Amino acid sequence: MGALQAEVERRGERIFELVDEHPEPLFSKAGFYQRMMALSMRDEHFKVQLFRFVDVLASLHRGPDIVQHLDEYFADLRNGYRPLIRTGVGLAKFVPWISGQVLRWNVSGMARQFIAGKNPQDVMKTLRKRRAQGIGFTVDLLGEAVVSEKEAAEYATRCLELLEHLCRETRGWTDPLGENANLFPVVNLSVKISALYSQMNPAAPAEAIAHLAPKLRPILRGARELGAFVNFDMESFAHKNATLELFKTLFTESEFRDWAHVGIVVQAYLRDAEEDLRDLLDWGRKRGTRFAVRLVKGAYWDFEKIKSRQNGWACPVFLQKPESDLNFEVLTRILLENESIVTAAFGSHNVRSIAHAQALADELGIDRSRFEFQLLYGMAGPVKRALVEMGYRVREYCPVGELLPGMSYLVRRLLENTSNEGFLRAKFSENVSESELLRDPADVVAQSPNGARHLEVSSNGASLDTPPGDSYENAPLVNFVYEQNQERMRAAIEHMRTQLGQKYPIVINGEKIWTDKTIASINPSDPDQVVGHVAEAGIPEAERAVKVAREAFDQWSRTSFETRCRLLERAADIMHRRRFELSALEVFEVGKAWAEADGDIREAIDFCLFYAQQMRLIGRPRLTQHVLGEESYQHYWPRGVAFVVAPWNFPLAILTGMTTAALVTGNTVIFKPAEQSAVVGAMLMEIFEEAGVPRGVLNYLPGKGSVIGQHLVDHKDVDLIAFTGSREVGLRIWKSAGETREGQRELKRVICEMGGKNAVIIDSDADLDEAIVDTIYSAFGYQGQKCSACSRLIILEEIYPRAIDRLLNAAASLHVGNPEDPSVTVGPVIDVKAHKNILGYIESGKQEARLAFQRGDVPAKGFFIPPTIFTNVSPRAKIACEEIFGPVLSVIKVRDLDEAIEVANNTDYALTAGFFSRSPANIERAKAEICAGNVYINRSCTGAVVGRHPFGGFKMSGGGTKAGGADYLLQFVVPRVVTENITRHGFAPETTPQYRDEFLWPPQR
Ligand SMILES: Cc1cc2nc3c(=O)[nH]c(=O)nc-3n(C[C@H](O)[C@H](O)[C@H](O)COP(=O)(O)OP(=O)(O)OC[C@H]3O[C@@H](n4cnc5c(N)ncnc54)[C@H](O)[C@@H]3O)c2cc1C
Repeated sequence: MGALQAEVERRGERIFELVDEHPEPLFSKAGFYQRMMALSMRDEHFKVQLFRFVDVLASLHRGPDIVQHLDEYFADLRNGYRPLIRTGVGLAKFVPWISGQVLRWNVSGMARQFIAGKNPQDVMKTLRKRRAQGIGFTVDLLGEAVVSEKEAAEYATRCLELLEHLCRETRGWTDPLGENANLFPVVNLSVKISALYSQMNPAAPAEAIAHLAPKLRPILRGARELGAFVNFDMESFAHKNATLELFKTLFTESEFRDWAHVGIVVQAYLRDAEEDLRDLLDWGRKRGTRFAVRLVKGAYWDFEKIKSRQNGWACPVFLQKPESDLNFEVLTRILLENESIVTAAFGSHNVRSIAHAQALADELGIDRSRFEFQLLYGMAGPVKRALVEMGYRVREYCPVGELLPGMSYLVRRLLENTSNEGFLRAKFSENVSESELLRDPADVVAQSPNGARHLEVSSNGASLDTPPGDSYENAPLVNFVYEQNQERMRAAIEHMRTQLGQKYPIVINGEKIWTDKTIASINPSDPDQVVGHVAEAGIPEAERAVKVAREAFDQWSRTSFETRCRLLERAADIMHRRRFELSALEVFEVGKAWAEADGDIREAIDFCLFYAQQMRLIGRPRLTQHVLGEESYQHYWPRGVAFVVAPWNFPLAILTGMTTAALVTGNTVIFKPAEQSAVVGAMLMEIFEEAGVPRGVLNYLPGKGSVIGQHLVDHKDVDLIAFTGSREVGLRIWKSAGETREGQRELKRVICEMGGKNAVIIDSDADLDEAIVDTIYSAFGYQGQKCSACSRLIILEEIYPRAIDRLLNAAASLHVGNPEDPSVTVGPVIDVKAHKNILGYIESGKQEARLAFQRGDVPAKGFFIPPTIFTNVSPRAKIACEEIFGPVLSVIKVRDLDEAIEVANNTDYALTAGFFSRSPANIERAKAEICAGNVYINRSCTGAVVGRHPFGGFKMSGGGTKAGGADYLLQFVVPRVVTENITRHGFAPETTPQYRDEFLWPPQR
C-alpha cells in the first residue's frame, strides 16, 4: 500500500470515529421521512411511486385531490405495505381535508429537510445556527425551470435582493477559521445560469453569453461591492460549455479581472472534466488573479445517461461509479497542485473522497485553511461535524425557496440518498465496512470486469423476438454542444451560400434532362435569394418516366432483397457524409432551424437503415404452418411502379422514407418533391446515383402537382402512390385511385398521410415546467409547420391562470429570425402563399377569439409570421377546426377532463395528441380515450423517431399507415403463398425449414 493510501485510510478512519461519536441515521429526521426512505431502498417500485407522488404533491392544494393521488400512486403496491396503505387511503377518504393536509405537511417536512429556508428572512435562522456550529454557507435560490425572459428577470432580481439581505444580516460575522479568511468571504452565493436565461441553446453559446452577461453584471458588481463571493453552479452537460465560456468571458473583463472571489463548479462524473479544468487553470494564469473551483461528482447522472441514450449520443458521464470517484481524486490532485492560482472547494459527502483531499493536501504541504469542504444542507450532518472538529473549513450549500420550486431539487436529493451506489446509503444505511468504503477507487476500477467500459448503446442485431424498434439502433442526432459541430454547421452554411442559384436537371433512366421551364426554389427568409433552379417536368417527361420505370421493374423486382437493402445502406452512408451540407441546404431552402434540419437528415438516414433492416426480416419466404407432406411459404412481391409525392416540411426525411420503402421492397420509383424543396429532392437523386441505383429504378421528376402530379396519379401504369401532404390533395388522390382505367394491371394502392389539428391537454396537476416548454416547442417548432404540431391547447380551468401566464411569456421569449443564426427557434413560413393564408387565419381568429399574444418584432423581409396565441377560443371556431400550418395556437379552457377529451377528439383529424398530467388514473384514461395515431404523454407531440414512434394517423389524417413502423413495408407489396406437395409415394421429410431462399429465377448467388 502506498503512503498516500495509508494516510487516506488513517484520515478516513478518524472521520468515521468522529462520526460514530454522534451516531445518527442516514436521515436525521425521524418518523415519516425515515420510514419512507427505508421502504424506498427496499422496494424499487415503491421508490418510483413515492418520488412521483412527492413530485406532484406541491402542486395539489385540495385535500381530496391529495388523497385521490395517493390512492392512484399506491393502489398497485406489490409489497407487504399494501393493506396498510389501502386502509390509510380508505380512512383518508372520510376526512380528505384533514388527511390530505397531514400528508402534505409530512411530505413538506421531507422537503424542509433539504431546503434551508422559504425565503431570505427564513434562511437566516438556519445560517445563524450553523454559524454557532462553526459552519459557513453558500445560498442557492431555488426556482421553477425558467421558461420565459420575464421569469429569468425575476430570478436575477431575487438573486440581488438575496445577496443584499445576506450581507446586511451577516454584518460583523467572521470566517470560522480565521486563517486565510481573505480567500473565503462570509457571504457566498451560488447561481444557476439556466435560471437567468430562458432560451439557452447549446448550438449558440455566444448568443447565450450575450444575453447572460448583462443580467449577471449587476449581481456581480453588487457582490463585489458587498464583499461577497459568487459561484456559478454547473447544471446539465448541454449548458456546460456556455457556462464555462461565460465565466471566463465575464471575469476577463477589466471590471472583474482582479476579483478573486469568484468560482465555478467542475463535475468529476464528466469524461471531459479534466480537460475543462486544465483549460480553466490556463485561463486563470493568463488572467493573473485567483479564482475558485468547487469540485463535485455531479447531480444529473441519471438525466445525462437517459438523454444521451435517447439521442444516440456518446454518454458524457462515466458509467461506473468508481470511475467518477477516481476522476474526483485525479481532479483533486490537479486542483491542489495548482493551489497558487485556484482555491479548491471539495463538494462531497463521501468520506473516502474527503479523506483523500485531506491526505493529498498534507502531502503537497498545503495548509488546511487554504481550501474548504462543502456539503449539502440536510445531508451528512455527522460528517460536517467531524470536519469542523478536525479543523477544516466547512461550508453548507443552503437552498432557499418554496416547496413547489423546490420539488425537482428534493427529488434529486431523494434519488441521491437512496441510490444503490451512493456513499451515504452504503455507510449510514447498509453498514458497509469502513475498509470497503475507504478503498482506492483506482483499484476498484482496475478490478471491475467492466472497468472503464463505455456502455453506450445497446447492441444491434435484428431478431424476430424483440420489438422491431429494439433491434434497430437509431442514427444519432448531431450534438451541437460540441464546438466542432457548431463550426462544421457554420462552414456548411457558408459553403452552401456559394452553391446557391445552381441548376438541377430532371433525372429519368439515369439521364439528365433539361426542359424549357424551370422552377425557382427560393429562400423563405430572403425571397430575393434563389436556392436553385430545377428543370420542370411536363407530361412528356412524366410519360417517359413511367415507361422507363415500368421497364426497370422487371429486373429490379427480381433483384435479391439483400442487394436492395445494401443500396439503402450505401445511401445512408452518403447522407451521413454529407450531413452538414444537407442540413445547411434545408436552412436555406425551407427555413429550418439548425436542430430541426439535423433532425430531418437523421430521420432520412434512419429510414434507409430501418427499412433495410425490416426488409431483411420480411424478405425471406416464411413457412405458414408445419404440416407433414406439404410446405407452404408466404412471401412478398413488389406492386410495380410507385409514384412518390412528398411535402416540403420534412424535405429529405419524408421523401426518403416513402422512396426507400418502395425501393427496398422491389418497386421502381418516380418521385416528385414539393416545388418548395425541389433542390433537396435533387440531392436525394444525387445520393442514390452515387449509391449505385440502377438506371430507371429511381426517377426524379420535379414539377407541378396540378400537371404531372395529377397525370401520374391517374396513370394506368402507376400501381402505387405514396403521398404525404394536404388533405385536399390526399382525398383527390384517394378518389382517383379508386377508379380502374383501361389497361390498368393492378388495383392501385394509396399510402396517404395528411394533416392534423392536434390537441395538447394540460391537466390540473400537470408539471408546468415541462408542459409549457414542450407545448411551446410543439406549437412553434419549425414555425408550426409540422403535421404533428400542436395547434389546439386545452387547459383545465383550475390550472388555467398560471398556465396561460407562463405560456404567453414563454412565447414572447422565443427567438424569431433567419435560421442561419443558430439561436433562432422560429424561422419563416415556407412561401408567400402560406404567409397569406396564415395571416388570413389570424384575421379570422381576431374575429372569433381573443388575441392574447402576438410578437411584434419579426423581420420585415421574408415570410415571417409572428408566433400568435388566441385564447377564449370556442372549440367550433374556424381556427380551432381547420389546419393552419403555421405558428398559431388556439387555447381552449375547459372545466374538467371529460370536457377536455371531448374537445380534443371532436375534430376531423386523428394524427397526434399530447397530455400533461401527474395523475396515474388520468394518464391511463388519456391513453385509452384520446383519438389520435400518436398519443404522447408528458412530452412534446412532435419529433417522432423512426422505429420508436411509428408515425401516422387516421380519420382525415391518413389511411392508418405507420411510417417508421414494422408493418409499413407491407403497404408496398402484395403477399403471395407458394404451396408444394412434398409427399412422394407416401413419403415426406419429417421437418420443413421455417424460412427458405427467395423465389428468384434464375437463382441469384
Ligand atoms: C456543496 C455542493 C454543491 C454542489 N453543486 C453541484 C453543482 O453545481 N452541480 C452538480 O452537478 N452537482 C453539484 N453537487 C453534487 C451533487 O449534488 C451530489 O451531491 C454529489 O455528486 C454526490 O457525490 P458524493 O461524493 O457526495 O457521493 P458519492 O455517493 O460518492 O457519489 C455519488 C455520485 O456519483 C456519481 N455516480 C453515481 N452513480 C454513478 C455511476 N453508475 N457511474 C458514474 N458515476 C456515478 C453521481 O455524480 C452521484 O451523484 C454539489 C454537491 C455539494 C456537496
